[in-house]
Amino acid sequence: MKELNWSGLGFGYVKTDYNVRCAWKDGKWGEVTVTNDEYIPIHMAATCLHYGQEAFEGLKAFRGKDGKVRLFRVDENAKRLRSSADYLLMEAPSEELFTEMVIKAIQANARFIPPYESGASLYVRPLLIGTGAQVGVKAADEYLFLVFVTPVGPYFKEGFKPIPVIIDRDHDRAAPLGTGHVKVGGNYAASIYSGELAHEKGYSSVLYLDAKQKKYIDECNAANFFGIRDGKYITPNSHSVLPSITNLSLRQLASDLGLKVENREVEVDELPTFEECGACGTAAVISAIGSIYDPMLDKTYVYGNGKEVGSWSKKLYDTLRGIQYGEVEDVHGWTKEVILG
Ligand SMILES: *Cc1c(COP(=O)(O)O)cnc(C)c1O
Repeated sequence: MKELNWSGLGFGYVKTDYNVRCAWKDGKWGEVTVTNDEYIPIHMAATCLHYGQEAFEGLKAFRGKDGKVRLFRVDENAKRLRSSADYLLMEAPSEELFTEMVIKAIQANARFIPPYESGASLYVRPLLIGTGAQVGVKAADEYLFLVFVTPVGPYFKEGFKPIPVIIDRDHDRAAPLGTGHVKVGGNYAASIYSGELAHEKGYSSVLYLDAKQKKYIDECNAANFFGIRDGKYITPNSHSVLPSITNLSLRQLASDLGLKVENREVEVDELPTFEECGACGTAAVISAIGSIYDPMLDKTYVYGNGKEVGSWSKKLYDTLRGIQYGEVEDVHGWTKEVILG
């Protein structure tokens, strides 16, 4: 194969050799298969197409300095997919099947795992879809679980630079008692328009507020929000926020580093009081937030000087990345080595 330009990779789809599939039919999961077909033959009345009966996951495999390949908290992704599937009345793979298929997909595409030096990684995308035909709105009787991988570049090509964010008071991504707490395509569909408007205005991301009162902070498009103030790591607790595994890990690391952790309702009015703010998720670990614009007040809150990453955010980012690449001791047992054989 032509050598990929690892460090020039972005966050996009790059074709790899294989993907791994398993179908649920007649009340049980079938054989796990490995295929090089990028397409899925699907019934035109499949529930995933009409009624959004689909859920997905995102995680990464990292090649460490020691040459070992590590997965980060794959058990948490397996659990979260089950929780998403439960809410949409979908059949979900067991944690064992999930992990087995993720590992198989990585092994089958080992030549696409970027070298340590590149700062790139292998993104793993498990996808669960209702494939059974229905016309009425109800759960399918057949499902497909598949896992594909694609190499992705270091998120911050030009270094770790803070991003500008805008509060969207005109659109919501998730209703208070809706699907915000599960990782389903519908939430993303609801955020595309709002995200595009923000990009057109020059903002990298949208900050959503609670849909009912617009009083509390929910999260960014595909990343949780946190603020740091007076030695505290503060992050919203809301039913319409997706439980980010990165945020879960950062809360632990923040506590390890001596910060007090507060997971509670966070008022929009607290924004000016934060010393540092960030958006966190698998893609970037932490995107430091340089500024937040509130269109209702026509006011911009700037963090630090808006150009440099705050010291706590940097420390948290370095520690988490260090664990993922095997440079920092994994005292919490978060990583799982993938034996390439
Ligand atoms: C996936 C996702 C995140 C980030 O979760 P991680 O497990 O940290 O990758 C945050 N918010 C939303 C809405 C998401 O879908």
